[in-house]
Amino acid sequence: MIDRQLLEKAAAAIAGSKELALACHVGPDGDALGSMVGFGIAARNAGKGVVAGFGSPFAVPGTLSFIPDDLLVDPDSFPEAPETMVVFDAGSPDRLAELGSSAGDSGTLVVIDHHVTNEGFGDIGLVDPEAAATGVIVAELLDVLGWPITTDIATCLLTALVTDTGRFQYANTNPAALELAARLVGAGARPDLISQKVYEEAPFGYLKVAGAALSRAELDLAARMVSTIITEQDLDEAGVGWGDIDNLINTLRLAEEADVAVLAKVHADGQVRLSVRSRGDTDVGALAAALGGGGHRLAAGVTFDGPPEKAIDEVRARLEEYR
Ligand code: 5GP
Ligand code: MN
Repeated sequence: MIDRQLLEKAAAAIAGSKELALACHVGPDGDALGSMVGFGIAARNAGKGVVAGFGSPFAVPGTLSFIPDDLLVDPDSFPEAPETMVVFDAGSPDRLAELGSSAGDSGTLVVIDHHVTNEGFGDIGLVDPEAAATGVIVAELLDVLGWPITTDIATCLLTALVTDTGRFQYANTNPAALELAARLVGAGARPDLISQKVYEEAPFGYLKVAGAALSRAELDLAARMVSTIITEQDLDEAGVGWGDIDNLINTLRLAEEADVAVLAKVHADGQVRLSVRSRGDTDVGALAAALGGGGHRLAAGVTFDGPPEKAIDEVRARLEEYR
């Protein structure tokens, strides 16, 4: 739980502002987008002027296409110096990409996040690493604001919970997460439809991309690490986008010989984004933070310039230190 006084301070800043600019981390996942849009709908229902966005590439993942998009504005249209800005699911300003400058130039910056690696930026930080998802903290804040959770808001927040807990299977699945889920289903959110969209459908091209990436996977038995590389060219050939392959790491990590799974995503601009997961023995959040990234103990990410093999080796070299 976030301290009540802190919630009230954030609520006062938000309630006292006519216009709100909302942002979440680049390459938004279900928690980032669901938390931001769920909060945005509640704010709009309360009579606020609301815009919401995230940095380039500005594309909503196909798996999250059911999240309402009418509040979203592209990075070029995002306010440069908003009176009040609220940031969701980002542990540091660099996770906002080009919207980081708006955060820096905002009048009041509220940060809602649950990453252990959160740097403590912003004027008011609602940061709780015990929260299973940023969406849990959003629900706490909505209650203090007295803003009701309608069915569409419940759908957004349940998506946040479902995705960040891996359908209530990861170690972060705690009583607060399950109690909020019960409340959201009571408010009309449909767990069956969310699971269907997020986990049970993908464009046909995803099968081709997953097949190629998995057939190239390498197992380093000594390091107990499984890794593979996927390039933007692979995606282009199969006609899918980066937002379509968020579940690929979950297949890679099945290798029981490995504790750590690393998926290197090579973007067209040469940037290599690593998704790193641990079965439990390695603090990949701290490891990623040491390399300039961040995340959670068992799920983290970091971005590199340069060859993907080298990026994977950077992780390999630090595994012992974080076990
Ligand atoms: P994913 O691999 O699904 O992109 O990210 C896993 C977790 O690590 C998420 O909580 C995400 O926010 C965090 N994460 C991913 N990439 C980065 C990064 O470059 N920097 C930081 N600070 N966190 C990241
Ligand atoms: Mn999250």
